[in-house]
Amino acid sequence: MHLQVLSSGSQGNCTLVRAGNTNLLVDAGLTIRELGNRFEKAGFLPRGLHHILVTHGHLDHARSSGILGKRHAHLTVHCCERLMGNRALLRAKRLQKLNVGAQMEIGVPGRDAELSYTAVKIPHDADPTVAFVLEHAGRRAVILTDMGRPAKRETAPLHDPHLLVLEFNHDESMLREGGDPPKLKQRILGNGGHLSNDQASEVLRDLAGPNLHTLVLAHLSQRNNTPELAIAAAHGTLSELGLGHVEVLVALQDEIGPNLEV
Ligand SMILES: [Zn+2]
Ligand SMILES: [Zn+2]
Repeated sequence: MHLQVLSSGSQGNCTLVRAGNTNLLVDAGLTIRELGNRFEKAGFLPRGLHHILVTHGHLDHARSSGILGKRHAHLTVHCCERLMGNRALLRAKRLQKLNVGAQMEIGVPGRDAELSYTAVKIPHDADPTVAFVLEHAGRRAVILTDMGRPAKRETAPLHDPHLLVLEFNHDESMLREGGDPPKLKQRILGNGGHLSNDQASEVLRDLAGPNLHTLVLAHLSQRNNTPELAIAAAHGTLSELGLGHVEVLVALQDEIGPNLEV
């Protein structure tokens, strides 16, 4: 299984996963035009997509999932029931309800399933918001962004992936001292907002296990964080855990990331 982050941050999120013959996106939160640019850079043809898994209804995640699902009739868009009437999703020809907590087997339509996903509910102010575990050929990838606060019990099913994409949204003091409106600061800091580097480190402590080989830091705020601060927090935590060998990468807003083997 391969995973490639095509965009990450509050302006749009999209991750391409290729497992066997099955191709899927987790979120399609860019404009359709920008998504086309990212696909081209990744050397991927969008007609080869079979599934889109939508984490939640915020536009930076859901934006183009409906239109992709309209353009490509064989493509199934999976989202929570409450999102099925959402304008960004409505247009998809095949919409399937996400069963939170259940392991779902998917693949190329008409052929045997070859990968599974599990949606795990996490705290964030677009209710419901889910994280995904993707499993193929004994390998496990977890995508966890837009999380309001660390939640050990809720995230237990996400434990010990081979590759982890984890939100490192902001540095708390940069956010507190920065120029964002007070209401926005409150939202980001609150239980339904986003993880600070310290909170993300706490989640990393809960999720990291012996299998972890790659950690991708995601959904970084462009105003209230820097890649250096996020990387320092992640490295510190990994060393504490005896996992100093884990490769740490930062997912960017404006550029696609490398195609990573899970
Ligand atoms: Zn987001
Ligand atoms: Zn969100």
